[in-house]
This record gives sequence, C-alpha cells and structure tokens, in this order.
Amino acid sequence: LMQLALPLGVIGFVYSEVRQGLANLEHMFDLLDMDPEVVDAADARPLAIDRGAISFRDVQFAYDPARPILKGISFDIPAGHTVAVVGPSGAGKSTLSRLLYRFYDIQDGAITIDGQDVRSVTQTSLRAAIGMVPQDTVLFNDTIGYNIRYGRIDASQAEVEQAAQIAQVDQFIKTLPDGYKSMVGERGLKLSGGEKQRVAIARTILKAPPILILDEATSALDTRTEQDIQAALDEVSKNRTTLVIAHRLSTVIHADEIIVLKGGTIAERGTHSDLLAQNGLYASMWNRQLEAARAEEQLKEVRARA
Ligand code: ATP
Repeated sequence: LMQLALPLGVIGFVYSEVRQGLANLEHMFDLLDMDPEVVDAADARPLAIDRGAISFRDVQFAYDPARPILKGISFDIPAGHTVAVVGPSGAGKSTLSRLLYRFYDIQDGAITIDGQDVRSVTQTSLRAAIGMVPQDTVLFNDTIGYNIRYGRIDASQAEVEQAAQIAQVDQFIKTLPDGYKSMVGERGLKLSGGEKQRVAIARTILKAPPILILDEATSALDTRTEQDIQAALDEVSKNRTTLVIAHRLSTVIHADEIIVLKGGTIAERGTHSDLLAQNGLYASMWNRQLEAARAEEQLKEVRARA
C-alpha cells in the first residue's frame, strides 16, 4: 500500500504544481501588457494596508513619450469610498487602473495607497491588496468551481458557493450539467461575457481584497444581466475602496465621486446630480445613453408587435 500511496502523493503534488503553474500563467497574461522596466525598488517593503485610501497626485503618463495620455491627474478615493471614471473612448480610463496596479510607472506625480507610493512597495504585496474585475475574464480550462476558488485556493466548497451566491452566478451554475464540477474555458462550456464577469466577481469576493478595481465591459448587456451584475458589484464593493472604470453610466449613479476624463485632463467632477446640474459633458453623455436606451425599448416593442 505504501508503494502505491507514495506515487499517488507525488502525482497529487505534481498536479497541484501544474495548477499553480496555470494560475501563474494568468498572472503572466496580465503582465504581458506590462512595462519590463517595472521592478521592485532595492529597498521595497511590503505594502502596509490600513484602510486602503488611494491618492493620485498630478499624475502624468504616456505609453509613448510623443503622445501624453494623462496630463496631471489628481483625485482621492477615501477608504471605503467609490470613485467612478467616465469619458470618451481612448480618454485613458483603463490606463488609470493599470497605473494603480503598477503595470506601468508614471512619468511624474505620485500614486499612493495609505500614504505609500506604489513604486516603493513590493509588487506582490501591492497586487495582493487589489482585486481586479477586468473587462474580459479569461477562464481556465478547469471546473467552474476551481475558476472561483482561484480567488483563494484554500477556500472550502461552502465558501465557494457562498461567493457564487453573492455574485449572482450560483443559480446559473446549478443549471449546468455537472454543477460546480462543470468544465469551462476553451475546452469546456463557453460562458457569456456577463457570466464570465460574475465568475470574476465571485473570485474577487473570495479574495476579499481591501481595494477593488472594476473595469466594466464595453459590450452591451441585456437589462436583466446588467441588473444582476450591478447587484453583485454593489455587494463586493461595500466597505472597499473602489475604482470603477465605467462605460455604462447606470453603474455610476451611486458613486461618491464621478470623474469625467477628457483629453488627458479632468473635464468635470462631482456626484451624479452635481454633474447633471452642470449640464456639461457628463449631462450630454447621460442624455445620449437615455435616448439610446429608449430607442432600444421602442425597437423591442415594434419587434414584439410584428
Ligand atoms: P475605452 O473606453 O475605449 O476602453 P479608455 O478611456 O479606457 O478607452 P485606455 O485604454 O486607457 O482608454 O487608452 C488610452 C489611450 O492609450 C488610447 O489612445 C490607447 O490607444 C492608448 N494605449 C492603451 N494601451 C496602450 C499600450 N499598451 N501602448 C500604447 N498605447 C496604448
């Protein structure tokens, strides 16, 4: 029996190493987009998280020196608050989230978390403190349960299911042929954008980071899915310092502050009602989305009657 137990143990070990390798692979995909010059400072310390207050101070950044993207951006996200960034396509919204995660180093200014410059702390500790729900989540060729558990590898099945419930994806999983053991990814079931995003949210709920970055999908979602995702996001961002990169304005109504980015500077800032009252860029974006939503409704009615 011993003879059999040993190789099995070794196989188990190798298997978990391979899984770990896959997990690191996802990390590597994240990093592919990263500047190779981003390295830990010689005296880098682990980030000492208090409550996760974030500050951008006069941040200047360009991917290519000839084309500045951010021209001196300053804003704060007090601990536990939510700041949403909106603005035209290409304004640099997602760039802000990449800089907070330190995929790139800024050229001037500072980004701090609880008073510590992100360039002065270890990248591992920085990324452990931040949960990222990206625009498009890549799922592993593994079970849907594993894809959620990846947020915290030692989580129990009950914890995985609880996270799935909060992320509003539990009902969907229960309809799958093998439930939590259903294979997903390229070689398994293909999930819709909204389902994948809810898996990413469940993963982040398990990770329970003090800081959250939500990079909303650009793709249009149906109203029901959008409401489900919104409920999941509200739940996960409760009491967490949250940066929302928003493409749909309906998700920013309740943000503590909305930043309107345009041409590398902050064009407008305030709450949803402040910005509507200003009757500027935000108000016109809002009205355009309302009109688009109304047109869509009318189209549906016409189709339903036909
Ligand atoms: P969208 O709403 O379309 O997602 P965004 O406001 O999030 O846009 P960013 O993704 O931050 O925009 O991009 C800002 C600008 O930087 C764009 O003009 C883009 O082409 C450019 N850019 C983004 N990533 C890179 C990169 N890795 N290298 C060079 N330029 C880049």
